[in-house]
Amino acid sequence: MGAEAGPVQQRQAGDVCYQLARRRVKHLNLRVRSDGTVAVSIPMRASVRQADAFVLAHRDWILTAVRRQQARAAKPLPDRAAALEHFTELSRAVFPAFAGVLGGQMPAIKVRAMTSRWGVCNPARRQITFALALCNEPAAAQEYVVVHEFCHFLVPNHSPAFWAQVERLMPDWKARRALLREE
Ligand SMILES: [Zn+2]
Repeated sequence: MGAEAGPVQQRQAGDVCYQLARRRVKHLNLRVRSDGTVAVSIPMRASVRQADAFVLAHRDWILTAVRRQQARAAKPLPDRAAALEHFTELSRAVFPAFAGVLGGQMPAIKVRAMTSRWGVCNPARRQITFALALCNEPAAAQEYVVVHEFCHFLVPNHSPAFWAQVERLMPDWKARRALLREE
């Protein structure tokens, strides 16, 4: 995040459709979103040909990822009340490690249908919102998201200090995060 987005262009390379954006990034970046769409960002000076060539070179990997995302997205979502109960329970388990910074008060836990993020922490409101679809992700990954959002009560951004907190509480967070669909 943080990079300034240029206009998004719809492109096709071989049989892969993707959205191309120029950003203030150093390297070409590819991601398959939770809805199965493919997004590529390239440095301001890179050419669209380079983007097309990159997509073609990674075609098999991309299409496998797209199919996986689509299969997951097709899973029915749990009902909101059940999801809220579930995430509240997971949050209660993590809360003790943050009781100090939260003044002993459990944050408000909410659940919302979100497609672009797994969770959002609002430290000022002492509130964490989880994506309904997170229920369909592996349990180990759900726990990572809960810890991630709680860590924003300590560090609001994604600076190295933030990741150090995540690492301290959950040394295997990288493996857990890898289980998630692209955030
Ligand atoms: Zn975060």
